Amino acid sequence: MATKDEIGGATQTGQAQQVCAEKTALLNAYEEAVAVVSEALTSLRSAMGVLSRDEYDRAYLRTEELRVIARQKHEALMAHAITHRC
Ligand SMILES: [Zn+2]
Repeated sequence: MATKDEIGGATQTGQAQQVCAEKTALLNAYEEAVAVVSEALTSLRSAMGVLSRDEYDRAYLRTEELRVIARQKHEALMAHAITHRC
């Protein structure tokens, strides 16, 4: 977590931007969520022609839910970058 000092103390110029711990955590969470979606898509593809139509539809809906979660993680990352200016 960033401290108040870190938030208000960025007075140096010409240096690399300080790494924001919260932004890093949000980015990691987003990356993990995307990886989960990717895995779900891979197993969905291999399930084509194997599962029944109903089973496939349910697997597809679960994949969609994971995609929504990944989008929420991305929105949280964007929202943090805007409010924290990092
Ligand atoms: Zn930040």
